[in-house]
Amino acid sequence: MPKGSSGANFEYSKMTVAVKDLGTQTGNEYIGVIDISAGTSIGGHLNTSNLPNEAALSREQMLALTTASANSLDMVHNHPSSSSFSGADLSFAEYAAVRGTTVMAHDGTRYVMVFAGGQRPSGQSIYDAWTQEFNRTQEPYADRIAAGIITYDQARKQHFHEINQTLAKNYGWTYRRY
Ligand SMILES: [Zn+2]
Repeated sequence: MPKGSSGANFEYSKMTVAVKDLGTQTGNEYIGVIDISAGTSIGGHLNTSNLPNEAALSREQMLALTTASANSLDMVHNHPSSSSFSGADLSFAEYAAVRGTTVMAHDGTRYVMVFAGGQRPSGQSIYDAWTQEFNRTQEPYADRIAAGIITYDQARKQHFHEINQTLAKNYGWTYRRY
């Protein structure tokens, strides 16, 4: 993602490839946490929940989130569904140690959210804000699905993207899709 030491950039690149490769092979989510200054992954490996829509952190990864210094970690995980961040994904902004998070979508899209420099609300309030924004903006998507104009998957991708643009703006985060 973001700039950092070359070691961290290497680890980030490696991890973006690894989560997508493993994800494509298994259909499940994998998550890595990078120590930016050391250029290593926490626990030395990716963790998985063995589920297609949930990326569980290992105990070591979780411990790093709560104890590492501010903006010293980057998170990377894959989305078999190819949609943008969920509310749960963004709730990690509550940990000051997390500089930002990346989602590697299986359709080739990459989503990046940088929390550094922005607000750090509680995970619960981020999750609630995301859900509220989802509900507020849901109707036009549901209508277009019902009318056969877009598929459920297309709607979900665009809808989640729109929600995350709004949250980024409200919290002062930097959001990119490419
Ligand atoms: Zn996710």
